[in-house]
Amino acid sequence: MKKVLVAMKAGHLILAERACGRDGYSCPGCHEPVILRRGRHKIAHFAHRPGSHCQLGEGETPEHLLGKRQLLQWYQQQGRRVELEVYLPQINQRPDLLLTDGNRRVAIEFQCSPLSLQRLLERNAGYRRCGIHYHWLLGAPYQKRHLQAAKVAQFTQEVGGAPALFFWDTRAGRLLVKRDLACCSFIRHSILGPRAIARYQMQRLNALQYGRGQHPTAILQLVADLPKHCPLAACPLVCHDIVPSWPTLDEPVILWRIQVVKVLMNQPLFHYWSDEDWQAWVGGITGAHWLGYGCLDASGMHCRLIAAFTADLLSWRVLLACPGGYLLFKYLQWFANVQEKLNLLNRGGLS
Ligand SMILES: [Zn+2]
Repeated sequence: MKKVLVAMKAGHLILAERACGRDGYSCPGCHEPVILRRGRHKIAHFAHRPGSHCQLGEGETPEHLLGKRQLLQWYQQQGRRVELEVYLPQINQRPDLLLTDGNRRVAIEFQCSPLSLQRLLERNAGYRRCGIHYHWLLGAPYQKRHLQAAKVAQFTQEVGGAPALFFWDTRAGRLLVKRDLACCSFIRHSILGPRAIARYQMQRLNALQYGRGQHPTAILQLVADLPKHCPLAACPLVCHDIVPSWPTLDEPVILWRIQVVKVLMNQPLFHYWSDEDWQAWVGGITGAHWLGYGCLDASGMHCRLIAAFTADLLSWRVLLACPGGYLLFKYLQWFANVQEKLNLLNRGGLS
């Protein structure tokens, strides 16, 4: 049954929980009659007749209805001017809530159902055309322990210049801001030191290369191009991403770094890249799948990851900074074997 929280009666918009009398309501979207429903265990709402073709109440879940109602109250308690389910005819969109603050309007979307990146981009583009800012809050289906990197990227927004995800928890009726989703390759929420991270990443590279099971295509490509009997785990230490980064690539960052280092070793020494060329060159390395962002500028996020790696390459003196760009200064060798690398780590390498 298609449900809405707001209906029209005698030319006025009425919130379901404040409505009295069962009849006389119509849907502000399709203008068909809707019926007030409420009970002890459900959120007051208006229901369309069975078989309705209205798009307004499409896919409404109890969580979505509850969340919208909670958010309305939550913003009202903060003294904000807020409206529910406002239809914006020029873009044919209806944000869950619309905040108005002087000239600034913000669409609040409470997302509980699957939404493709493409649809998200279209919705946000619509808001931008109307000069409306947007803010996405995620519901329970997104609050799982291991949300896919692609979904994290899709809904990433910024607070104070740092990436974050926003959730609305309908059970507690409160906002959650998650900023701790940065991770190192294969490791989440690590309290390990750099050497332990590198050792663990070596184990996982080994398992990827020699273990059974499905290999990501990126790794197959990497392995195919490596000299025979050359373990990925024996890659130069600069390849290890020991500082957590926000999900930006569809594969572990270490695979991208290995790929870059491998291709770098085929460049002539003292090759020069302008800053811009370097960004494009590293960003365009084949086999890397950059994640798409739906709510902020993707290139800014990509630049962060590239900048972190560039800083490491500079500190290992693989690159030298020179005016306006970088020089390839040193070739890095693969370790002869994994044990040699472990020995170096045990002696305190990678500090
Ligand atoms: Zn309708």
